[in-house]
Amino acid sequence: MKIDEKLQPILDEVIRRNAGEVEFHQAVREVLESLGRVVAKHPSYADNALIERICEPERQIIFRVPWTDDRGQVRINRGFRVQFNSALGPYKGGIRFHPSVNAGIIKFLGFEQTFKNALTGMPIGGGKGGSDFNPRGCSDGEIMRFCQSFMTELHRHIGEYTDVPAGDIGVGGREIGYMFGQYKRLTNRYEAGVLTGKALFYGGSRARREATGYGATYFVQRMLETRGDGFAGKKVIVSGSGNVAIYTMEKVIQFGGVVVACSDSNGYVVDESGVDLDLVKEIKEVRRERISEYARLKGAGSHYIPGGCVWDTPADVAMPSATQNELTGKDARTLIKNGVIAVGEGANMPSTPDAVRLFQEAGVLFAPGKAANAGGVATSALEMQQNASRDSWTFEQTERRLARIMSDIHDQCAGTAEEYGAPGDYVLGANVAGFVRVAEAMNALGVI
Ligand code: NAP
Repeated sequence: MKIDEKLQPILDEVIRRNAGEVEFHQAVREVLESLGRVVAKHPSYADNALIERICEPERQIIFRVPWTDDRGQVRINRGFRVQFNSALGPYKGGIRFHPSVNAGIIKFLGFEQTFKNALTGMPIGGGKGGSDFNPRGCSDGEIMRFCQSFMTELHRHIGEYTDVPAGDIGVGGREIGYMFGQYKRLTNRYEAGVLTGKALFYGGSRARREATGYGATYFVQRMLETRGDGFAGKKVIVSGSGNVAIYTMEKVIQFGGVVVACSDSNGYVVDESGVDLDLVKEIKEVRRERISEYARLKGAGSHYIPGGCVWDTPADVAMPSATQNELTGKDARTLIKNGVIAVGEGANMPSTPDAVRLFQEAGVLFAPGKAANAGGVATSALEMQQNASRDSWTFEQTERRLARIMSDIHDQCAGTAEEYGAPGDYVLGANVAGFVRVAEAMNALGVI
C-alpha cells in the first residue's frame, strides 16, 4: 500500500534516524500505511508532531550483562529495555532472550506493543526488552545467574507503576521466577505487580500461560464466524512449539480443529491424524528437547522434516506462532494454492508485508498479531489487577474475561475497518483503532 504524502516524510525520518533497523522500519511503515485514512478524516491527528512522537520511544536503555558460565568463564551479553509509550499506563511488554535480539528488534516489538496494549482497552503503555543471550543448551544454574545479572541493571528502570515486563521468546515461568527473586532481593520489596507471567504460588494469574495462544484462537474463531464457519473439522498448521504455539494447539483442538503440523527452528513434524499435544508438552515443557523427538517417540503416522518449511503442509488455517518474518510471500502463495481460508498471527509480525498483501488480495481472512495475540498482555493486565487487590481468580473466571476481551478486540478491528472504508481489513482496523486510543491520550496529556 502507498503511504499518504503527508506521512511519507515521517517514515523517511524514522529510517534515517534508526539506520539499519529494518524490522522497526517495517513495523512503522505498516502502521503509517493505515494512517492515511485517519489524517484525511481527522487532520488534527497530524498536529503537534503527534505521529512523529508516537514513532520515537520515550526512553531506551542498553546495558552490559556479565555472567559466569559453568566452566567459570565470564561471558558478556547486551541487555535492552525500550520504554516506548506511557500515555495509557505503565510501560508493559515482554522480555526476549534470543541471539538475534538487537535494538531494532526490541524497538519494533515495543512499537507494536503500544498499539496492541491500546486495543485491549486496559490501562497499559507499551515497552519491550531482552538480550542477545542464547538460553539453548544452558544449565539451570547458568540461566539463573544470567537472569540475576540482567535484573541487577533492569531493576532501576521498572516498577509496578513504571514498567512491568513479562515473558517472550526464551523467557518463561522459570526465567520470570529468577528475575522476580533478584528484583525482590535488590529492592527489599515484595512488589508482585512488577512482573507478570509469575507462577501461581507467588502471585501469578491462572490462564496467563495459556492466554496468548487461547486468545489468538478465540480471535480466529470469531473471524471465521463472520463467514458462518469455525475451527470444527479444519486442518490447522501451528508454527513453533513454544508457549504461544502449544496453547494455540490446545484451544484449536478444544474447538474441534485438527492440528496437522508444528515446528521449531530446526524443522517441522507432520501428523495427519492430529498432533498429540500431551507428547509435545512432554518434549517441550518437561524435557526441553527438540521437536524432532516427536516423530521418534510417536512413530507410525508422523514424520519429521529437518530444515523444511512448515507452510508446505496443506491446511485450512495457518497460525504462525514462532517469530517475525517466518512466513514469506512464497509461503503465502503455497498456503493459498493449498486452499487456506484464514491466517491468525500468534507471533509478532510473523508474515512479511508481501505475504500479508497476498492473503488480503486472495480474500483470506487475516488477523494481524497486534490484535490476535493481545490476549497474553491483556491477561498480564488481569494479573496486575489481581496483584493490586491481593486476589486470585479461578481459571474459568479469567478465561471468560480473556474470551470477552478477544471478542471485543475483534469487533473493534472489524468495526473500525468498516468505518474507514475497508471492510474485512483487520490490519487497517487494528492499526487505526490502536492509534486513535493512544493519540487521544497523548493529546490530553500535552506535548510531553
Ligand atoms: P517461546 O516459548 O520461546 O517459543 C518460540 C518458538 O518459536 C520455539 O518453538 C522456537 O524454536 C521458535 N522460534 C524462535 N525463533 C525462531 C526462528 N528464528 N526461526 C524459527 N523458529 C523460531 O516463545 P513464545 O512466547 O511462544 O513466543 C512466540 C512468538 O509469540 C514471538 O513472536 C513472541 O513475540 C510472540 N508473543 C508471545 C507472547 C507470550 O505471552 N509469550 C505474547 C504475545 C506475542 P526453537 O526452540 O528452535 O528456538
